Parts: sequence; C-alpha cells; structure tokens
Amino acid sequence: MNNNELWAQILSRIESSVSTMIYNIYFKDTTLVDIDNNNTFKIQVKNEFMKNHLLNHFDDLISEKIKEVTKKDYLYELVISQTELELPKKKEEDNTYMSQLPLESTNIVENQPIMNVVDEVFPDYNDNLNPNYTFENFVVGEQNGIAYTCAKAVADKPGVLYNPLFLYGKSGLGKTHLMHAIGNEIKRKYNKRVLYISSKQFKEDYQEIFSNKNTNTTLLEAFKRKYYDKDVLIIDDIQFLASADKTQEEFFNTFEAFRNFQKQIIISSDTSPDDLQKFEDRLKTRFAWGMTAQISPPDFVLKLKILNNKMAGHETANRIKPEVLEYIANNSQSDVRHLEGIINRLYVMIMMYQPEVVDLAFAQQYLKDDIDNNNYTENSIEKIKKAVADYYNVTVDTLKSKKRKAEINKARQVAIYLCTMTTDETVERIGLSFNRDHATVIHAREKITEDLKTSEQLKNEIKEIKDKI
Ligand code: ADP
Ligand code: MG
Repeated sequence: MNNNELWAQILSRIESSVSTMIYNIYFKDTTLVDIDNNNTFKIQVKNEFMKNHLLNHFDDLISEKIKEVTKKDYLYELVISQTELELPKKKEEDNTYMSQLPLESTNIVENQPIMNVVDEVFPDYNDNLNPNYTFENFVVGEQNGIAYTCAKAVADKPGVLYNPLFLYGKSGLGKTHLMHAIGNEIKRKYNKRVLYISSKQFKEDYQEIFSNKNTNTTLLEAFKRKYYDKDVLIIDDIQFLASADKTQEEFFNTFEAFRNFQKQIIISSDTSPDDLQKFEDRLKTRFAWGMTAQISPPDFVLKLKILNNKMAGHETANRIKPEVLEYIANNSQSDVRHLEGIINRLYVMIMMYQPEVVDLAFAQQYLKDDIDNNNYTENSIEKIKKAVADYYNVTVDTLKSKKRKAEINKARQVAIYLCTMTTDETVERIGLSFNRDHATVIHAREKITEDLKTSEQLKNEIKEIKDKI
C-alpha cells in the first residue's frame, strides 16, 4: 500500500465520523506526503489557518483514525506547502507532483487570499458602513477629544500607528459613529476593503458554521472570506463576546491574522480592556497593545456644542432662542443619543405648533416629558454648581479643578452634597461632572452630613444656597 492508498483509508474513516461539511472543509484536500523515520505521518494541509484549526479541533480524531487503520501509535505532523497556490488540486496527480514539494516550510504566502471560491455566498461584499457617520459631523470636545484624535490618526495611517485601536465608553457617546467615520475615510482615501461588524454578528456567523451540520462546505469558506479577506476589521461592542469561549478563540485567530499582516483592527467596548469580564487574558492583553481611548459623557459645554451643531442648517434653527439649548443641555442625560431624541422631538413640536419664536416656555412645555420621563429633577448639576460658586465667590471651573485650598474644597463638597441630595443623578455621574470618582462624591456627602450635625453656620449657608437654586 502506498501513502496515498493508506491515507485514503484513514480519510474514509474520518469522513464517517464528521459531517460532510467539516470533512470537505478540513480533510478533503489533505495529503499524506511521507512517513518520517517510520513513526511520524507528515500530512500536508493548505495553510496556517487550516493547520491551527485541525490541531485545535481534530487532534484526537486524527490520531485515533491513524491508529485504527495502522494498528500502531504513529505521531503526526501538519505541514504547509509554500507553493500551495500553484499546485494542482486533484489527488490523482499527487504521485508525481507531491514528492517534489518543499515540505517543511511554514511560511504563509504574503497576503494569500485564504479562499477564492464561494462568490455565490457573498456575491456583493457589504462593508456595513453607514456613510452618514463621518468625522465632519462628529462634534469634538473635552470628553471625546482623545478618541477623536486617535481615530483620525488611524484613518490617516491604517495598520501603522495604533493597532488595535480600542475605543470604550458608555452607550450613546459616539463610539459607533467614530468607528464608521474611520471606515468611511479609509475607504475613501485608500480604497481598502473595510468590514464593520458587531461582535454579536461575528458570534452568530461563527456559531452557525459549527452548529449547522448539514450545510455545504461553502459556509466556512464564506466565513473566512468575509473576515480574513479584508484590510480593515471594525468590530463593535466586543463585550458581547463575554463567555463565548469558542468564538473568542476564533476571534483571537482573526486578531492575530490581522495584526501579523499589519491590517488595522478597531474595537469598541463599554469598558476598558482590563475591566472586560469573562474574557481570556490573552485577548485582554492584546486589546491594550495598540491605543486605548475612552469617551466620557459630555459635559454641559460639549452638550451645548453638539446641540448647536445638530440644529444648524435646520430651517427652524433661527427661531430657536439660545436659552432653549442651554435648558436642554442643563437638563438632559449626558448621552448624545438622548440629546438627539430631544432635538427630534423639538423639531416635531415646532412643526406642529409653528411658533414664531421658540423660547424657554415653549421648550419647557413641550419637552417636559422627555426630561421628566428620565427622572430628571428641576435641579441640575450645572445649576447647583453655579449657585454654589456664586455663593462662595469662586468660579464653576474652580469647583471642577484639582485645587485643594480649604475654602475651595469646602465649596466643592457643598456642591457635591447638594447634587446628591437634590437631583436624581448617580454618584458616578456627579463625580464625572466634578472630574472626580464616585468615592470622592460619597466622601463629600458624608463629610457635609457629618458637619451639618454640629455647625449652625453651615446649615444656614446651605439653606441660603438652596433658596437661590
Ligand atoms: P455608542 O456607539 O457609543 O453607543 P453612537 O455612536 O451610536 O454611540 O452615538 C449615538 C448617536 O449620537 C449617534 O446618532 C451619533 O451620530 C450621535 N453622536 C454621538 N457622539 C456624537 C458627537 N460627538 N457628535 C455628533 N454626533 C454624535
Ligand atoms: Mg454603539
């Protein structure tokens, strides 16, 4: 029996142990090229990707079937052919051709497309990019400035500067917008193949391949083609891969493949890489390899800027008084998606009632629901800050600064105390608006509560400030 006949017997046993799809994808094109020193099977596979998958998923199966047929404990080794692309695929030709191949090479041919069939599965490659999300219509401020700058840098030099770029922050703050902006710009400037995908979609695609036993081989080919055959991979909301061990493993492979070829990866998440729960450490480490940039909730200034920007150009914009936007900025959640909701509602109200001037009274009347629905009290953090700053004769900026002079510290603690007592804001959000963490907010609240027990003067001060808010 020669090597081909022997391997054919082993393959036929493997074939009956796995689905047709798996067999066709992983095993059909393998060849037994040698039995080294009479104890190691040298099996040739198409590429690095195949090799890794076979080792990860079918190691036991291969050893077992070799043993079943040969009745011996052979070792085996998977080898990749560098000239795979030029090879005739048909096995009949192996006898003459295969014996002359350089077998030891493990180099991946540079930029070798992993698959080139399956056009019928993804006939029109869709990059999923939304052309409406651009850098031009992204409003930049203190809370998103670093993320914006990094995003621009990546769009200018994809794969070179920051790889991966990891953007994180709470929902509704512009992560998805920035990612699309990067993708759109790279496409426009460099005509590169970009793919934007949510991690949920990645997971579904991957799970489909490994759960669906009856489909044909094109599925996996399509998967690889969809992901690997791109220059830029943008993967949104990576936190949804938590606990998805197999998918994480596959994402790890994808990640490695992209980085090794200096192809750009952009990832977003709701937390920093360190804080990602139920993620493999090797992934978390890699996420932080390039550049990590946080987007924080917009403060009053940035909210106002965004509002102005989104209003500009609208036919009713000139009827809206500036205090209306201030009112919205003051009383809305620190979340751009929510701001957009309020703007849309304002438009609708203007269209419906056609007021000559859109003033504070109009906004208060018709936007009350949006603001009340979200449990926002009359007192907003900004109002309190202003009242406290006026009372103690300091500026609002000083309250947010790191200055620790006794009087400033006291004013700041009073302001924080009032925010916790008279608004529905969370300690986290109050902290953010003072450039502090939640622990500082809790400490300030406790300190003032404690002092109030003994100080009549402090009691009066706080009463007077409250009257002014
Ligand atoms: P995330 O992905 O962080 O949840 P999105 O990118 O989906 O947030 O943003 C929510 C909405 O707010 C989108 O419509 C987006 O265009 C808009 N948006 C967010 N940040 C900005 C910004 N800085 N300038 C303009 N629009 C923004
Ligand atoms: Mg998003």
